[in-house]
Amino acid sequence: MIALRCSACGLAVDVDAPVCGACGELPGFVLDTAAFRAGDLRERARERRSSIEPRDRSGVWRFRELLPPVADDAIVTLREGDVPLYDAPRGAAYAGLARLAYLHLGMNPTASFKDAGMTVAISHARERGARVAVCASTGNTAASMAAYAARAGMTAVVLAPVDGISPAKVAQTLDYGAHVVAVDGDFDDALRAVRALDPALAAVVNSVNPYRIEGQKTAAYVLLELRAWRAPDWVVLPGGNLGNTSALGKGFREAHALGLADSIPHLAVVQAAGAAPFASAWNSGTDLIPVRAQTDATAIRIGAPASWKKARAEVRGSEGTVLAVEDAEIADARAVIGRDGVGCEPASAASLAGLRRLVDAGTVARDADVVCVLTGHVLKDTAYAARYHESGARYANAIVRGSAIAEYLAALLAVRA
Ligand SMILES: *Cc1c(COP(=O)(O)O)cnc(C)c1O
Ligand SMILES: [Zn+2]
Repeated sequence: MIALRCSACGLAVDVDAPVCGACGELPGFVLDTAAFRAGDLRERARERRSSIEPRDRSGVWRFRELLPPVADDAIVTLREGDVPLYDAPRGAAYAGLARLAYLHLGMNPTASFKDAGMTVAISHARERGARVAVCASTGNTAASMAAYAARAGMTAVVLAPVDGISPAKVAQTLDYGAHVVAVDGDFDDALRAVRALDPALAAVVNSVNPYRIEGQKTAAYVLLELRAWRAPDWVVLPGGNLGNTSALGKGFREAHALGLADSIPHLAVVQAAGAAPFASAWNSGTDLIPVRAQTDATAIRIGAPASWKKARAEVRGSEGTVLAVEDAEIADARAVIGRDGVGCEPASAASLAGLRRLVDAGTVARDADVVCVLTGHVLKDTAYAARYHESGARYANAIVRGSAIAEYLAALLAVRA
């Protein structure tokens, strides 16, 4: 019902082959959607949401029939994927929309969307008898792999540009017991080194791993489930290595083919201007040319995205778009998301910053039904948030110093009155 094939030439690919033997492109799973009935899938998902079985409570494994098969006793789950959809009145006003919602994938066990993919990748690796998991990371993949590997009793090894990632993410990864190896270079250098490893040595769990994509596609199912299976007009998300764009696009495409949703949302992918090779390729209509990436949104500081071809196919198929925004726009948008009482890390806020531009340009209508995907939690990069609030920027909220509380409150109330 689900088969591993080359994403470019369609040839069958062996389990755990890192790329297609014929053309060198990434493998991906193809689901036989005709083998399912939408009514059964919806009913089963509804029943499982009220079950106390860990796999049923997971927003990933609740849809296990639509995933590559993994033996029940190999599954490592931390109740990932069961995330909230929040309405966002201040974010809507900021973007110029009547309404807006955030799908908050930062509300995952290790506080980023990587968990939805990692539970599948690590469960599969465990079933295959792998003892070591390895990844290159800008921080969140590392933290996620470390947690799931710890639960699975596997050794985790991270290759990370430690000077270019949030210290909170490194600390979290160390807490889960992973070996963190600092690389001289950036994420792209680290990923190249990991992809050159002999697959027999360790399971590579970056998003080039098709099991990661399968787990992450369930975010599309969960979003539709939270909206009574009605697709929004637009889904806006940040793009780095572009695994998540491929995954969400696949999820919405499958949901439509399965009859779970009656339309496919347009995907809008937002990159940081200093790390925007996909946006450049989209605008020029050419193939992607890697860049040396620079942005304070470290989770998307990626210059040679591995999944750009898959992502381009999904964005095209959804009649979507790709754009880039400046770091200052990301910083303001992140602060605005905080004012809705939600909060996210910098990379996530590229979604709202990009949406604002798309509304301004008329690409997204003011009455459109839009969901921004928040990819990581606010506590993932508190150093960034602290810097912003001392910066004097538009939405900065600096600490008040040298005031007695009673006088301060009195003055505050006088202003309000
Ligand atoms: C990994 C990550 C991204 C980028 O996702 P890709 O799949 O690499 O495009 C964006 N935001 C956060 C918080 C991330 O952890
Ligand atoms: Zn191929």
